[in-house]
Amino acid sequence: MYKEDCIFCKIANGEIPSSTIYEDEDFRVFLDLNPATRGHALLVPKKHFANLLELDDGLCEKAMVLAKKLAGKMTELLGCDGFNLMQNNGEAAGQTVFHFHLHLIPRYKDDTAGITWRPGNASSEELEVLVALLKGK
Ligand code: 5GP
Ligand code: ZN
Repeated sequence: MYKEDCIFCKIANGEIPSSTIYEDEDFRVFLDLNPATRGHALLVPKKHFANLLELDDGLCEKAMVLAKKLAGKMTELLGCDGFNLMQNNGEAAGQTVFHFHLHLIPRYKDDTAGITWRPGNASSEELEVLVALLKGK
């Protein structure tokens, strides 16, 4: 629940100062030090969970409701034109801090954040195989 060598455990619990924009008994939300855009914030639970798969179900539900509230408030106060919620799990997915966090990224028309991917192609056979696999046939 608390990991000694985890920087986000220390930030979440106030042992390391952060630019906090919201706090309650379960979460802290603070500004990212290397923001993708103006107002980029990180929502973290105060307890340590390495990633989404480890995150407690109750906190998972609360995190999304809180993200929704903050996205609305930030949109109003920053005047952004859009919003990304982003959440990386595992090194291959770009996770660099192994304490669950949800990126709240305000987007502005013509910003240079570039959060995107190169679209591939899926054949109908491939889609069929994947549906059978993922539905657990
Ligand atoms: P990830 O790549 O794991 O999804 O995201 C980690 C994020 O944490 C990055 O956007 C990075 O800029 C941010 N970050 C890493 N260390 C610190 C820190 O000590 N303070 C703050 N405010 N942000 C941090
Ligand atoms: Zn931690």
